Amino acid sequence: MADARPYWNMAQETLPQERIRELQWQKLQRQMQYIYDHSPHFYRPKFDAVGAQPRDIRSFEDFRRLPIMRTKELDRAAQEDSAAREGHPYGTYLCAPLEQVVHVYSTSGTSGEPSFYTYTEQDLRINDECWARTFWRAGIRPGETVLHGFGLSMWSAGIPVVRALAAMGARPIAAGAEGGIERMLMFARLTKPVALVGTPSLAEYIIEKCPSILGYPASELGVKTIVVAGAPGAGLPDVRKRITEGFGGARLFDSSQGCWGLGNVSCDCDEYQGMHVVSPEHCIWADLVDPDSKAPLPLEDGAVGEGVITAFDHQAGPAFRYAFGDTLQLFTEPCRCGAPGWRFRILGRVDDLLNVKGIKVYPAAVRNVINGFVPRTTGEMRIVLDAPPPAVNPPLQIKVEHAPGMSLPEIEALRAELVEKLKGRLRFTAAITMVEPGSLERSTLKGKLIEKNY
Ligand SMILES: [Zn+2]
Repeated sequence: MADARPYWNMAQETLPQERIRELQWQKLQRQMQYIYDHSPHFYRPKFDAVGAQPRDIRSFEDFRRLPIMRTKELDRAAQEDSAAREGHPYGTYLCAPLEQVVHVYSTSGTSGEPSFYTYTEQDLRINDECWARTFWRAGIRPGETVLHGFGLSMWSAGIPVVRALAAMGARPIAAGAEGGIERMLMFARLTKPVALVGTPSLAEYIIEKCPSILGYPASELGVKTIVVAGAPGAGLPDVRKRITEGFGGARLFDSSQGCWGLGNVSCDCDEYQGMHVVSPEHCIWADLVDPDSKAPLPLEDGAVGEGVITAFDHQAGPAFRYAFGDTLQLFTEPCRCGAPGWRFRILGRVDDLLNVKGIKVYPAAVRNVINGFVPRTTGEMRIVLDAPPPAVNPPLQIKVEHAPGMSLPEIEALRAELVEKLKGRLRFTAAITMVEPGSLERSTLKGKLIEKNY
């Protein structure tokens, strides 16, 4: 029987595409004027530099011709600028008065200095709404217990997700990744969650550790739904298989949300179809530019490029033509699950992309190949870099954990097979070092794929 209420917000999530387009355009015009008026040291000069006032932008095509206005690098400079001018680290793109900023999270930059993201009360309400749409599509319902295993401290999937789960009427158990695996599993044993939210590597770590900590496998935890975010994984067939089987047939969904009102979630199709955008009236995500030239790319089914975010309703530190460094693939054709709208898939970070003598290699794709050799490998691997990416002198060095109890000839045969498979599938030559099971460090936070030797 069809679900009588397939969406959290039936009115908004079933709007015809033309109506969404109209709403986006109305909001875009209002938002351009808002950021122009409220960001005199960041957004306004960027419009002025190309000789355009917001009112000169008369179509989506005009909008897409505007330059990229935010990147991680520009953000860092804007944070230093706001610290100097205004005494706060939230960037000169902060458009709301500081006293209206009620929540802050950060990501760690490569330099070690955090990048900050801010919410007003209204921004948080939109965030609640987007996560509710996401969780509802994943099958989470009010009254259900949900184990929250994302990092709680200063992360977009931390306190904002706990808050969003409570706002939709679910019961989050905010164990948080920082508390460690034993504590998290103790809470799981006591509170009996039917859903888990966390990173894919946390889900895998629970499968690995549950038998020794609780004395029974993760399949007996009673978790029926898992929503992962923060790293690719749900879209990798082998990771997907390991997580769903490890939790006894739980349904696995993928999501990737920030603070700007972009909701998205993968669907329940057997084969991963990318993430459905669930809040197109709040934020554009799947706008694509060439990662090098930053020129707009045609938005057609299957197109690949760097994603560009523009938020329509965000007040605090709005994203506007923000090239955030993820390589996306766009799908505009209808999904077989029947849900409306566009989908996208994250292929990796633009910065993570390795160039092995002209061959583009995504670390996540390497991990996917290694995962195909479970149970002969544990699935844990590291790409070892001797110099900063993206250029790598071949062969690409990779450490792979073999399974326990293998003989030396078996390990050597596996190593040779892995080299051949990587060459066949991803076209680069690997130098693989087989290491003991359990020797690569596990993490309850984001899965680590690169070991830096520089
Ligand atoms: Zn679908």
